[in-house]
Formats: sequence, structure tokens, C-alpha cells
Amino acid sequence: MDVSIDLLLDIVSKYNISVIPLIKKAYYFALEKHKDQTRESGEPYINHPLAVAIILATLKADVETICAGLLHDTLEDTNTSKEELIREFNINIANLVEGVTNITNLSLFAKDIQNNANLRKVLLSMSKDVRIIIIKLADRIHNMRTLEYKKDLNKQQKKSRETLKIYAPLAKQLGLYDIGVELEDRSFFYLDSEEYNQIAAMQKELLERFEEYKNVIIEALYNAFINNRLFSSISFKILGLYETYKELMNNLDIKNIHDLLKFVLIMDDIDSCYLALRYIHDLYKPYPSYFQDYIAQPKPNRYQSLHTTVFGPNENMIQMQIRTPFMEKITKYGITAYWHEDLENGSTLMQKAFDEQYPFYKSILNANKSAKNNSDFIQILEDDVLSEKIPVYNDEGKMIEVSKNITVIDYAYFVSPFFANHMAGVIVNGSFVDFSYEVKPYDKIRIISDVNSSGPNCEWLNIARTTLAKNSIKEYLKRKGQSLTRSPW
Ligand code: MN
Repeated sequence: MDVSIDLLLDIVSKYNISVIPLIKKAYYFALEKHKDQTRESGEPYINHPLAVAIILATLKADVETICAGLLHDTLEDTNTSKEELIREFNINIANLVEGVTNITNLSLFAKDIQNNANLRKVLLSMSKDVRIIIIKLADRIHNMRTLEYKKDLNKQQKKSRETLKIYAPLAKQLGLYDIGVELEDRSFFYLDSEEYNQIAAMQKELLERFEEYKNVIIEALYNAFINNRLFSSISFKILGLYETYKELMNNLDIKNIHDLLKFVLIMDDIDSCYLALRYIHDLYKPYPSYFQDYIAQPKPNRYQSLHTTVFGPNENMIQMQIRTPFMEKITKYGITAYWHEDLENGSTLMQKAFDEQYPFYKSILNANKSAKNNSDFIQILEDDVLSEKIPVYNDEGKMIEVSKNITVIDYAYFVSPFFANHMAGVIVNGSFVDFSYEVKPYDKIRIISDVNSSGPNCEWLNIARTTLAKNSIKEYLKRKGQSLTRSPW
């Protein structure tokens, strides 16, 4: 991508012309500060903050965020002080820059005490302003796009590992799905290029064979819709390379991945979505187990769509995602859709939603509450926040996203430590299960609690897998004065 200040101003002026002077000021400030620096690729350093600001502007970020994007490396890499940023700009911009700088200086892999203490502080502070995370994601995208120029191969690997483990899951949790996939695939390329190339070749071959059927399907859909006065725009997508790789780890043939080949159908309104589903199922028979109504049951990150996987021509499994233009906006922009919805108050609404709806924030608070020390805190976050998620339902039919590979004990503590401590039994999909039962996607889970239940015992400690559950059980046993080493019976 060719970056220039004109390109940035051009993008911003399309949605908010009044902020142009401040953005220009931030640009010339950063240009002056970085003037003697070059990137490893040999280009002037300013191209990096400029590229970050352009990524943010395409998300329709507010003026403070874009300025902070331009200034994000001045505290770290130049003689600029925070006071100077406050004086020249304002306290909000200075705080954003400081927040991004603090994250940059941390590592989730250095397990030393000082780093863990800092990490905890930074995570707590960045959860107070979600814009810090978004700027950091933009910074990371540009770093990954230009990682080939990094001469130190160890650093290349370290950045990729960190991106795969932290930033890609974070992006997906915030609903920035395409950014998450891009971060995953670029990291995957540097971490295991052989595997990466192999999967890319498999996908390419499959796509070539699928090409003629693709057009058949699109035409069939258009005809069915037109005959029934439905209007739709149809596009085709393929699963990310890293996501495909992960599916293949579960011993699947590439042709058995239910969401490898997907069509996205944008319909005028919600009624048309359900009608479209009906005509699709007329044409191609559905696999009942893959149907998901995320319109009635949105994901915690606001994602909405109907998902169905059908028996397509030539034994291809085809996923159809059906949604309205508004839902498409959420799919594309995730939490930053608030910037598109409300120019004036977008950032405030975004932070409010982040605090109230997004599991990330709740998990950080949970971790902060139940962690005994800083390394514990980090462990809980890794278990809980950065782990792969699966959807399950509570007894009221509400969808809850929980970490993959957890037991019903972990589930109970995740949902409510109080009920977990009085858990007398668990019913999954209508049948009683052992407490060691591992939660599976789409399970309907009912915890039966009873104030007279005997409560957690040492056995539970062996079964539980998450630090959150283990800590709560230990806490309970300590209160009851039971020894952790003695068996309760
Ligand atoms: Mn940077």
C-alpha cells in the first residue's frame, strides 16, 4: 500500500472534515520527531505511523484515535515526553499514546515477576479505553504486513507467536473477524511456512475444481430469489488458511470442513433472510446439525446471521451466511461499527458496549478478582480470554461462549461461582452427566444447585482445568477448613 498524508486526509475528510487541521498537526509533529529514522525496509519511519492512521481511518476512527495512531511511537522511539503531547494536543491523546506504548513494552511470554506485574496493570488500564486495543491492533497489522523486512529471524518468530496467541484472538473477540484472520494467516506463514504452503495448495486445488459449481450455485440462488421477488447480493469466501489448518488437525478431510466454502447473502431485511433460507433449503438439502440462528441469538460481539450448511453439487459442503446490510456492517467492523453508526458519540457507545457486553472486559475483571498473584492473573487470562471459544446454551436458551475443552465444573464457575459452590448435579442435553464431562459445542447445560449440597471437594480440583475454577475451589476448601491434601472421604 502506498501511504501518504494526502491519502489519510482524503479518507478522513469523507466522514469528518472538521478534524483535518488537528490530524495535520499530529502528522507534522510525528514527521519532525521521526525525521532521522528509517524502517528496516529502508523507507522513512513516518510511513509506519501513517499506515497505522490510515488503517484506523478506514474504520472511521475518531480524531483522537487517528492522532494517537500518528503519534503512537513518539514516546517510545523519540525524545517526546507525555507532557509535550498533553501541551501540543490533549490529555486523551497523550493517554492513548501512553497506553499503546505500555503494551508494546510487555511480553506475555517473559514470565518474570516484573513483567507480570506490568502486564496486569496495562491490561487493566487498556480495558478502560478500548481504543488503545484498536490502535495496537492497527499497529500490529502493519507490522505483520511488513514483517518480511525484519532482518532478525528470532524477532520475526517472536512477533508471529505473540500475534497468533494474543492479537488475533483479541481482534476476533472484538468482532474484527477479517483482521483476526489476516493476523492469523500472516503469523502462520512465518511460524510454519511448509504447512502454510501445503494448506494454500490444497485450498487452491479445491477452488479450481469448485469454480464451475460456484457459478451454478450463484445462478440457481439468483433465479430462486428473483422468482420470489427477493433481492440479494451474493459473494463467495473461503475459510482462512490457519483456520483450515486447525480444522484439519481434528482429522478431517478438507472436503468435510462445513464452513470452508461459504456464500454470503445480503438480503434487504430480516424477513427476507428467513425467506432466503427457505428457498436455499428447497434447492439444497441442509445438514441439520450445522444450522445456526445468530439473528435470534446474536454472539456477544453483536454478530448476527443465519448459518446453514447444505449438500452442494459434486458432494461439496457449502455454508450459506444470510444477513441484512446492517448485520454485514457489524460483521465487517465489529466493535468499531459504533464509529460508523454515530459520528458524535461512537467512542462513548463503543466503550459502554465493551464494558457491558463483551466477555473480554468481564474476564479481565474476573481474573483480577480471583487471581492470587500476577502470574496467576496472566494464567487466568490465557485460559479464559485468549483461548478458543465454543458456543453453549444455558437452561434459558441463552448462548454463552466458553473456552474449548473445559469441564462442566469450569463452566459452572465461569457462569456463577455461587451456584458452582452449591452444585448438586448437571444436566446436559436432557441427561445427567458426571462433573468431569467435557463441554461440547451447542450443549444445553443446566446446573442444579442445592444449598444442602456437600460442595466442592478435592476431586473437583483434579477435574477442573481453568485457573479460575481451581482458585475458587481452593478458596472454598480453605474457608471450610479442609486440608487440600486429605481426601474428603
Ligand atoms: Mn508501531
